[in-house]
Amino acid sequence: MASEANMAIEALLEEGRTFPPSKTFIANAHVSDPAIYERARQNPEAFWSSWAEELHWFRRWDKVLDWDVPWAKWFVDGKTNMAYNCLDRHLSTFRKNKAAIVWEGEPGDSRVLTYWDLYREVCKFANVLKGLGVEKGDRITIYMPMIPELAIAMLACARIGAPHSVVFGGFSSEALRDRIQDAEAKVLITADGGYRRGSIVPLKQNADASMAETPSLEKAVVVRRTGQEVLMQDGRDLWWHDLTADASQDCPAEEMDAEDVLFLLYTSGTTGKPKGIVHTTGGYMVGTYATTKWVFDLKDEDTYWCSADCGWVTGHSYLVYGPLLNDATSVMFEGTPDYPERDRFWSIIEKYGVNILYTAPTAIRTFMRWGEEWPQRRDLSSLRLLGTVGEPINPEAWVWYWQNIGGGRCPVVDTWWQTETGAIMITPLPGITNLKPGSATFPFPGVEADVVDEAGNSVPLGGGGYLVLKLPWPSMLRTIYGDPDRYVQTYWSRYPGMYFTGDGAKRDEQGYLWLLGRVDDVLNVAGHRISTMEVESALVDHHAVAEAAVIGRSHDVKGQAICAFVTIKEGVEGSSDLIATLRDHVATKIGAIARPDDIIFAAELPKTRSGKIMRRLLRDVAEGHALGDTTTLADPSVVEYLKGQYEEHEA
Ligand code: ATP
Ligand code: MG
Repeated sequence: MASEANMAIEALLEEGRTFPPSKTFIANAHVSDPAIYERARQNPEAFWSSWAEELHWFRRWDKVLDWDVPWAKWFVDGKTNMAYNCLDRHLSTFRKNKAAIVWEGEPGDSRVLTYWDLYREVCKFANVLKGLGVEKGDRITIYMPMIPELAIAMLACARIGAPHSVVFGGFSSEALRDRIQDAEAKVLITADGGYRRGSIVPLKQNADASMAETPSLEKAVVVRRTGQEVLMQDGRDLWWHDLTADASQDCPAEEMDAEDVLFLLYTSGTTGKPKGIVHTTGGYMVGTYATTKWVFDLKDEDTYWCSADCGWVTGHSYLVYGPLLNDATSVMFEGTPDYPERDRFWSIIEKYGVNILYTAPTAIRTFMRWGEEWPQRRDLSSLRLLGTVGEPINPEAWVWYWQNIGGGRCPVVDTWWQTETGAIMITPLPGITNLKPGSATFPFPGVEADVVDEAGNSVPLGGGGYLVLKLPWPSMLRTIYGDPDRYVQTYWSRYPGMYFTGDGAKRDEQGYLWLLGRVDDVLNVAGHRISTMEVESALVDHHAVAEAAVIGRSHDVKGQAICAFVTIKEGVEGSSDLIATLRDHVATKIGAIARPDDIIFAAELPKTRSGKIMRRLLRDVAEGHALGDTTTLADPSVVEYLKGQYEEHEA
């Protein structure tokens, strides 16, 4: 256990298990030669432009990169179109009638759109938008359930060069209003409602409340999904099916400059007020294309399922754009994992013969809590690769996923990236990397990551610190919408010339990267900087525990005391003996310094709508503060409940 002064965060947890790729996997993988890392390192621009060459450009770029820190232009003066590359490009091949989107509705209804179907629907809706007066550069807000029209709307916007801003359909009318206002959107695309656990989310009704305060909005297009009664305001609100009924299927793709904006997306708000992240066309396209192909080893014959909502960047990059650029078959699911039963995910895998599953640690920990019996009911033998994203994955959860979902045969790619990075940055390549559970392993070729201390110096192997990126990359954010100063301030001012991720990481002796959680969440116990992730993983390592969230609360002597909110597996009793056992377990696993002072059993943890634990709210609970911004919280009642639990624990 090293604790040298130059290490910004201590590295405590040791994980020794390794999982090399199988011979068959290597033999069939898109990439299996580690030399690609060196090739990309020697000339990153040549590496990225070789990917760009596989895509369609109306005009080739003059220069790969123009970098005036922190302002990047990629594929300078190149002209292209994202929708053209996702759709038109495949129509002259045998993929014309290949399934592009296989959609499963919550009630069990299903739709398959081939590339040609999707192309036609996108062209029609693009013409509808034009007919509503939408011009290149106008912002369109999308607030929809996970139905095919959501992907169609995104691609239609891309086709005509109108940046989209997708707002998660689970957000409230206030959250929607703020995002429409910030983007000054001209058109809103929504639906009457969406299904969630058998009941209906009144999307149009929520939108009506928002639209009372969004002067920029001229029109709202409404998809009929649930069929419930909605108010349609004359002159403003129009039905999707009416507008598309006689729309022309002929809509040439707009020639977009590589640096024209493709979309805005507000971050999930785990740490504070969401920011409107701006992504442009050419670089984002190249980044998502390359990473989808190599990280998921995506092949023509694969059925690929990313379970993220299109309201998050993962749904943009790895449900819609990346897979369609790669002419894949992408599964889209409207519902939740526990409706109508806790085997819904596994029934979808069985039903469609899914080969690749990409999901979030929060889902995996929930599946662990429910027990193995649910996946065991279904045939999961079609799976050949698993992925995770969104939070650090605890080694125990990783191994559970590998064993119980992957049948011990599928590599698990733990992919680290952010809304801001647009595409996966740190990840295994499944035909090359020797996996370690809980480690996102190495930067994608062409990406340079480092772990630095407070002063910005590289921390030696074995130590922890702040994760930074040292080279620009094609799919990087270009700015924060309407707030370039905040862009510079947030990402580029802490260390000159380096992109500051806001996350902590450690690098082991072999150079593997282990994400330690957010820098803002790091604990400071008697002068030791301890990552929340490591204490949480030590807790999850105990067989009784499914999930844990750790925070620091003020302590007179130590600076901070460690307070752990713990969710135990179903069927386990939360006794005071278990508390003592868990405290000891952490001390044994990672050291006495990390022994939790408090353990509070919690049936639920406060999470964002995207499933990430919001530790800042737990800090508010433990410190007795008024709660900070809760608008992105999935279930506000959880915090009230935890306040009760915490007070009971205090008493
Ligand atoms: P906000 O920036 O508004 O607080 P957010 O950071 O949760 O919200 P996202 O861009 O969706 O918004 O999430 C990116 C963050 O998620 C990363 O910075 C990191 O903290 C976490 N993350 C994503 N993937 C991984 C991973 N594989 N391992 C560890 N952490 C991850
Ligand atoms: Mg973030």
